[in-house]
Amino acid sequence: RTVYLNGEYLPETEAKVSIFDRAFLMADGVYEVTSVLGGKLIDFDGHAKRLERSLGELDMKAPCSKEDLLQIHRELVARNGIEDGLVYLQVTRGAPGDRDFAFPDPETTEPTLVLFTQSKPGLADAPASRTGIKVISIDDIRWGRRDIKTVQLLYPSMGKMMAKKAGADDAWMTEDGVVTEGTSNNAYIVKNGRIVTRSLSNDILHGITRAAVLRFAREAQMEVEERDFTIEEAREADEAFVTSASAFVLPVVQIDEAVLGDGAPGPVAKRLREIYLDESRKAAI
Ligand code: PMP
Repeated sequence: RTVYLNGEYLPETEAKVSIFDRAFLMADGVYEVTSVLGGKLIDFDGHAKRLERSLGELDMKAPCSKEDLLQIHRELVARNGIEDGLVYLQVTRGAPGDRDFAFPDPETTEPTLVLFTQSKPGLADAPASRTGIKVISIDDIRWGRRDIKTVQLLYPSMGKMMAKKAGADDAWMTEDGVVTEGTSNNAYIVKNGRIVTRSLSNDILHGITRAAVLRFAREAQMEVEERDFTIEEAREADEAFVTSASAFVLPVVQIDEAVLGDGAPGPVAKRLREIYLDESRKAAI
């Protein structure tokens, strides 16, 4: 596999980063994941804009222009012959010569920019999209700036492991009984045809897929309500689903012990998945 590191395309075994890199020592970095379908990028513009915002919130320097980023994404997709899969991008505050809590001088320490691809044949037809997934609920004990897409992913990783141990596929996180989001996705319930999802704040990641799906839902005259919902309410919903760049729209058929509806993906989630995939493929670049 060919990867990208700081201006160079290299075989993955030759791409090396300093042990003093701030991401390695302090999780001082941000990332984006963009899906590839039919060799084209889904929602690139949204991901590039969110990256810019994440960098700004952390006073980090942009490693290059948006146009350069698009070019690097395309080059990597082409060099690795990716039909369906994803591009992972990470920007870190770089590697000063030593370990120090204070940020290094941006004049002397350049950001580290890494991109690599993952090939995922049949990404848009994953078996889980036909069966739906089971989620458990866990406490959300992450920090208070979840709107910044940092590489600090230890708790989400632990959440996935807790789900696995419980025989589930993923976890939804809650604060005082209210659902924030999934470990790596935004969470939704459907009751009487109405789609409910938490509104945007620093408490959740502003999903690029969320923005697109809500827009398509409204365009299709579906009712959307952006508000808090409790895990209790979720367990009594008609259906539920999650969205993310790599899973698109994925039905949820069980929350803790509660099986939703007849235990199969619901019509709203199925329809939104279809619309999202159709429209995103059309707009892919
Ligand atoms: N919330 C969290 C915590 C996530 O990690 C992700 C995916 N990175 C999302 C939501 C979904 O965001 P997006 O649709 O931009 O992939």
